[in-house]
Amino acid sequence: MLTRRTFLKTSGAFLPMATAIQTVNPATISAETIADAAISGTAPKLIPLPARLAPVEPSTLPWQQNIRRVGQSNMTEHDPAVMNIEEWADYWHSAGTDIVFISVTGILAFYPSKVQFHRHGKFLNGRDFFGECVAAARKRGMRVVARMSPDLNWGDALDAHPEWAMRDSDRSVLLSPEDSRLFRTCMFTSYMDEYIPAIMREINSLYDVDCFYTNGWPPIGSLPNCHCAVCSKLPPPNTTAYWRAFNDRVLDLWHKYDAIAKEKKPDSFYFANLGGNVRCGPNLDRLGKTAVWFQADNQGRTSNDPAVWGCSLQGRVCSALMDGKFAANVSAAYSTGTVRWRNAAKNPAETRMWLNETLASGMALYYHFIGSEAGFGEDRRWQKLGSDYFQWAKRHDAHLKPRRSLANIGVIMGQSTQLLYPAPAAAHAHDYMRETTHGIYATLLNGRFAFDFVHEERLDLERISKYRALLLPNIAMLSDRQCQQIRDYVRFGGSIMASFETGLYDENLERREEFALADLLGISKAGDVIGTNGNAFYGRIERSHPILDGFSNTNWLPGAQNRVPVKSVPDPVLTVVPGFVQYPPELAYPPTSHTDEPAVVLREVASSRLAYFPGDIERTFWLTGHGDLLRLLHNTVRWITRDQALVHVDGNGFLELFAWETTPGYAIHLLNYTNPNAHHGWLSTVYPLGPQTVSMTLPSGVKVKAVDLLRSDRTISFRLDGSVLRFTIPRVDDYEIAAVTVG
Ligand SMILES: [Zn+2]
Repeated sequence: MLTRRTFLKTSGAFLPMATAIQTVNPATISAETIADAAISGTAPKLIPLPARLAPVEPSTLPWQQNIRRVGQSNMTEHDPAVMNIEEWADYWHSAGTDIVFISVTGILAFYPSKVQFHRHGKFLNGRDFFGECVAAARKRGMRVVARMSPDLNWGDALDAHPEWAMRDSDRSVLLSPEDSRLFRTCMFTSYMDEYIPAIMREINSLYDVDCFYTNGWPPIGSLPNCHCAVCSKLPPPNTTAYWRAFNDRVLDLWHKYDAIAKEKKPDSFYFANLGGNVRCGPNLDRLGKTAVWFQADNQGRTSNDPAVWGCSLQGRVCSALMDGKFAANVSAAYSTGTVRWRNAAKNPAETRMWLNETLASGMALYYHFIGSEAGFGEDRRWQKLGSDYFQWAKRHDAHLKPRRSLANIGVIMGQSTQLLYPAPAAAHAHDYMRETTHGIYATLLNGRFAFDFVHEERLDLERISKYRALLLPNIAMLSDRQCQQIRDYVRFGGSIMASFETGLYDENLERREEFALADLLGISKAGDVIGTNGNAFYGRIERSHPILDGFSNTNWLPGAQNRVPVKSVPDPVLTVVPGFVQYPPELAYPPTSHTDEPAVVLREVASSRLAYFPGDIERTFWLTGHGDLLRLLHNTVRWITRDQALVHVDGNGFLELFAWETTPGYAIHLLNYTNPNAHHGWLSTVYPLGPQTVSMTLPSGVKVKAVDLLRSDRTISFRLDGSVLRFTIPRVDDYEIAAVTVG
């Protein structure tokens, strides 16, 4: 256990490589070391970047960590009849692709499989299509992923093995909703223990592949609900006990398949479909420790999840889990969405933004299209876009591969809360936490804060001490251990912003009588959640405070849709005016216009600052877009962080910011979301931004050689005021990267 004294003395060299992100505790930085970066008058105080990491020789890394571009023409049953293999291989090779996916499958064999129930595609005609594709890729120096699909099979397999099927509550077989000839296989049955390993071993015996991958399993975004003989003995679905059983099974199979992959060669491995960002089905902490390839199946926006930052949100999740191991985001060039055309290209501006977000958030590029009708596609519009993008990125690989994030805010991602928390009855449970996530995400983007996600299972001090503040947006489920880790973090000088039901449930979803962080936050529960029926509650301004900067000419501010009533506190800043009727307007006035129930609770303990909002304020901001909630959240984040930042980007427009340390120096990524389609539909054109001025304080002894803009392909001038580096990016189209080379 670190003590405060040893913690402050600890240097990065003493910490494991993966967590060598420790900086000088920001709480202890003296005033002299803080440079004022004010340009527009609202800039934060810059704290110096941490000492640079020691260099790593790429050849010492596992091979997959040097992969930067992944290509996939997702093969259909018809492809053996129509696909031009040479054209396919030439396309991916000339684009600069490092590795291609080739279908083995499990639903349909793309080679003359002898595994029982591995049905040959009807256009295969005994041909070794898989083997020919592997040979064509190998000839061009590309690596190969053997792609399998364990999620569906055919009637003859069902007749022989009725136990393989997922079952409904009436024990009827669950079928593919689109093709009833296929049944859904259950992950808890021997289908996964026998049939899938048989295919893997057959591939190992016949071909030279680099690794194995399963599509369609494990499920992402929700947990299975199966009533087969095996599953009937499991805990009830959507309980913490079921989630544990599900995770145990996922990890068991993962390890089993990985061992089979390694039977052929030790540097082979197994990986599976992941994604679903913070709402992923499998436990991401456990998988992050196991997986060496995070396959983010997060291919495009949908009407249910319409924010433009869907890909970079996934990238932040991967960064929180993989500690520098490989992650790729699957970007669909085809038309994703609720109404889908899997064999037609989508808007080029949207496709490019998804690739931009992949790179900006630290993942490897992965470009994907379905089927190869007419040789290499009926719709060929996606091809030039992808190869141009890949070839551009290949010229800048060194700058585009991050080593560590330069963020000083951590947002706790409560995966168990996302999956299992029973949201207030007034709201739709499925969307509740998604709205909460987007609320805090949009808040931080609007404020141009640099932030990371932190998984709830990874709150060890060595990992989180780099953050000036941790944000807990309704992290309802927290274990006693996690709460103690948060207390330890505050004792070492960290700050907290929490909201709503944070800590009101334990890790088993048992409801607590009192907030688990009541002592830390200075709060005490005074009743059950109060929702809105008509007018939502207000926060009455009781006194001036930095979190109220910019508000004038009003006695109250909007509160939130739901709140947990808390007991009164001394000298409150905002107090609750309870909600009331909004229609008819005759009754739209507060019967009770003043209470002593706090609408925010603020504390200062040594150098820590703590803020708790009883309302679901982040989610309510997402629902309404109310600027008062945004200002209140921004002010609060700036207050708890003492307005400190590692990197500041000053300018107009709505953008997402990533700042990375790289091998050559630093990379500042700006994603321009200033677009009418940022929150709905697809981007169709680009609305360029004007000048953006970047400021950061370099570590001592670091000299700047050049600042290059990688998208506009030009070198720009820079200025050094002491150790403060400043430069101005004159224009941002959809995306720009300022690559700082240091010497
Ligand atoms: Zn089952």
